Amino acid sequence: MNCAALIVAAGRGQRFGGSGPKQYAPLKGEPLLRRTLRAFRDHASIGEIAVAIHPDDQGLFQAAASGLSRITSVAGGATRQESVRLGLEALAARAPDLVLIHDGARPMVDAGLIDRVLAGLATAEGVLPAMPVIDTLKRVDGAAIVATVARENLVRAQTPQGFRFAAILAAHRAHAGEALTDDASVMERAGHKVIIVSGDETNIKVTTMDDLARVTAMLSETRTGSGFDVHKFGPGDAVMLCGVRVPHSHGLEGHSDADVALHAATDAILGAIGAGDIGLHFPPSDPKWRGIASHQFLRHAHGLLTARGGTLVHLDVTIICERPKVGPHREAMVIEMAKILGVAMDRISVKATTTEGLGFTGRREGIAAQALATVRV
Ligand code: MG
Repeated sequence: MNCAALIVAAGRGQRFGGSGPKQYAPLKGEPLLRRTLRAFRDHASIGEIAVAIHPDDQGLFQAAASGLSRITSVAGGATRQESVRLGLEALAARAPDLVLIHDGARPMVDAGLIDRVLAGLATAEGVLPAMPVIDTLKRVDGAAIVATVARENLVRAQTPQGFRFAAILAAHRAHAGEALTDDASVMERAGHKVIIVSGDETNIKVTTMDDLARVTAMLSETRTGSGFDVHKFGPGDAVMLCGVRVPHSHGLEGHSDADVALHAATDAILGAIGAGDIGLHFPPSDPKWRGIASHQFLRHAHGLLTARGGTLVHLDVTIICERPKVGPHREAMVIEMAKILGVAMDRISVKATTTEGLGFTGRREGIAAQALATVRV
């Protein structure tokens, strides 16, 4: 069976409150609609994908669908129902056997849900994914309860809703303009039987900024990254550690300010988001980084994290040397790193250890630092 998908993304989202239509709102560094489109594009049973969009959103759509194959746009209408009918008319030329119709603002749709709807279509002309009603329902008049509604036979309808293509196209043509709220009701009105399959509690429709925050939280995961760096002592009277100038009998050699601790911290954050290492972003061969203050490296890495919608949960730095003594400067280092990153001090840890006189740090030839960054992305 040849199955197409029709994604409805023409709404203006009056309840959303963000800047611009909700289906294009940034979700983990990409337009929300792009995540929805990928779920269908990546499913082996789905062929053509038509997206009903608002004529004003052509640029937003191009950006959201950029590089994704088999996806075309069609101008939507004044209502959702009209947009669906226009989308079905556009797909009619390709004559698919089946079509799944999905809200663009439901980005959590996954292959399992699509599979269940397709399985239902083996025996029915229409299928909708549904969830039980858990809360008690009340009918009200203003603040007063008028009745308690029996919920036993009630379900909450989701999308994607799946249909025999010829049947849903004919139903939409026959019942255009009747203000029906979903496609299953158009099929019901046309006298077809629609069955339910199990929906998914995570398959929420993003309608408000709170919904967007919920979806973002559901998609977030915790990651860690480690960093390690060494700089050797040279002439000088102070070393930079965690952005703090610490007086010492030597300086540290390096083409930047040689802040070994901030370099390890930078690599830890870069590692947590898989963004390479400090040498990739700031090549030692490039003279423009000579003598640069290393807080710029750390800020750059943190900026890459936040640009992906991520946040720094914790950054733990260990400085390894015999001298200088780190303890007296520890608090200033925590304060400085929290300031550089714009995070609370309790998200930063600075520790120090010696190597009991062993190895290059024990021989006081240089300082090593390691760091562990924990992030939510
Ligand atoms: Mg370094």
